[in-house]
Amino acid sequence: MSDVIHLLPESIANQIAALEVVQSPAAAVKELLENAIDAGASAITLEVVQGGKTSIHVLDNGCGMSPVDARMAFEKHATSKIKTAEDLYNLSTMGFRGEALAAIAAVSDIELRSRRADHELGTELTLSASKVQTIEPCVAPIGTSIKVRNLLFNIPARRRFLKSDRDENVAVRREFVAVALANPSVAMKLIADGSLVLDLPESSLKGRILDVAGRVFDKKLLSLSYTSNIVSITGYVTKPQAATKSGVQRFTFVNGRYMKPMGFQKAIELAYEGLIPDGTHPSFFIYFTVPPENIDINRSPDKKEIRFADEQLIFTLLRQLIRESLSANVSVPVIDFSNERILDIPAYKGREELPVSSSEDSEATPAVARRVFMAGNQMSRPSSDGEGRWGGSLHTSSMNINWDALGEGFSTPAREEELFAPDAIAQMETLPSDMRTPNDHPTVGHLIYKGRYIVTSLRRNLVLIDLKRASERILYDRYLMDIEEGRVGVQQTLLPDHLELTTEEADTLRLLDEDLAQLGFVIEPAKVEGSFVVTQAPISIQSNVHTLLRQLIHYCIDTGEHSHSYLAKAMARSMAEMNAYPYGSSLEKKDVDGLLSQLFASSDPNLSPRGETIMTTLLETEIDRRFV
Ligand code: ADP
Ligand code: MG
Repeated sequence: MSDVIHLLPESIANQIAALEVVQSPAAAVKELLENAIDAGASAITLEVVQGGKTSIHVLDNGCGMSPVDARMAFEKHATSKIKTAEDLYNLSTMGFRGEALAAIAAVSDIELRSRRADHELGTELTLSASKVQTIEPCVAPIGTSIKVRNLLFNIPARRRFLKSDRDENVAVRREFVAVALANPSVAMKLIADGSLVLDLPESSLKGRILDVAGRVFDKKLLSLSYTSNIVSITGYVTKPQAATKSGVQRFTFVNGRYMKPMGFQKAIELAYEGLIPDGTHPSFFIYFTVPPENIDINRSPDKKEIRFADEQLIFTLLRQLIRESLSANVSVPVIDFSNERILDIPAYKGREELPVSSSEDSEATPAVARRVFMAGNQMSRPSSDGEGRWGGSLHTSSMNINWDALGEGFSTPAREEELFAPDAIAQMETLPSDMRTPNDHPTVGHLIYKGRYIVTSLRRNLVLIDLKRASERILYDRYLMDIEEGRVGVQQTLLPDHLELTTEEADTLRLLDEDLAQLGFVIEPAKVEGSFVVTQAPISIQSNVHTLLRQLIHYCIDTGEHSHSYLAKAMARSMAEMNAYPYGSSLEKKDVDGLLSQLFASSDPNLSPRGETIMTTLLETEIDRRFV
């Protein structure tokens, strides 16, 4: 009777072991990039072909390898990073088992070139399925270039399961981004199928986050910083207003590597509880540093899920840290609007008419030269006469101060810089608790600085409000409500022009057909291909129909979104932007009063529909400090 149990041939054993480490091109990419980081590189280029299936090339300017090291690196359990079992518990660089290169080599063709700074010549080594093909000296720059071709070629059953180029590219990019976010001081490039996908210069952490996640995160990030001997936590989370349903970025790092500590998600959810709408999520980039012996790293084969020894404590700290950072950021209206009476602005009088600047509504923009206004908070009572389209006439001035003269002082550039010095702006972000104490000082009214900023006071602090964005917010809320309630007024267009569209634009327009009809458009194809005639459109955009349609089409093309609610928002936004008070508008006092009261009653007085800052506060303490 023959034996049933036999030893697997070594080549197969190697392949099985390899599969644990490199199931996909992205997994190989992660290992290779981390090796480059461990080698102290300050610049790394990753180039992949067909999602890494055809080839993965990592080029670094790190310490390089000697000829012996280069050969040794591909042996199983070859690592320069662990020497004793004790080291296993003191991994300062992490996740080393000395098996990555051996595993990758077992299932691919490899071409390595490497040179150390103290060697005149480098080493070129080629391997196929773990077998060395050639090894010889070569001329090479300092550092390492490793090319991995035909990953999993000798395990066809597995290779067949690799995903499409596109999906593998997405996974590769994710690994690249994780390493990039963990190492902002390393310049990194990602090239896919010959095109440069990401080119990240050496940067600060925040700069790197913006480079990777997008400039949309600018001004939306709050920094975190905490250190004790148990843990240090740094990084950024997004402000509650920036929570979104899609496009959420979630990154956690432990001791410099992308890892997911189990359970941390709950801590973040709790920190934002009650501050963001259901179904939306904050983005975060959080960096933990803990003594290496306090983490259990090998929880998953890819070493991404880990556990902290002091899990509960660390997560409580994290929650509090985020919570503190969020509350420090809560800006004026969020605190104060809960109690209208303490605002230095008139109370909201209910829905007023539109502040449209078109000719049909000339009352709203009277031809008064740019003026400065004032109103004392004592007079902040709604009037019952309802005079003015913005519900104006809420204030009467009782002080004879020459605000125009004061305003002139504001316009000199030197003063401007001083007022907006970075530290002053940083101060603007936070509000002391005494904001809620009764205001016993007479307050100034408002003036319009540079034709753009309404300068007013709120409690004892100075508030600057962007005129155009404030008016966009108000109009947006109103238009959106009108659209949702089917109350958009429409009008036939007289002598309509042809709207000429590219094929892509025209296809998108057809896709939006029904929704646009619901929004009040009647659009008919003209005789010429790609040409359309708009015969009916909403009244409030009569003069800008084509511009608005193009904008809508492009929002949809850029985002791939076609839902009705998305389109409604995009349209409300465009209409609001078109009809908002332009900078330099000459406004009467009652217009400004109306604008402010409606702004504070709007859905988000802090951010314009596009997410731009509407107002900022200069603290009383900061102002006083300048006069010490
Ligand atoms: P580990 O990283 O766990 O040590 P690897 O199989 O990934 O194991 O790498 C084996 C060894 O090869 C490393 O310990 C290192 O000495 C060397 N090595 C790998 N990649 C590089 C590189 N890009 N530059 C310099 N040395 C490298
Ligand atoms: Mg490694």
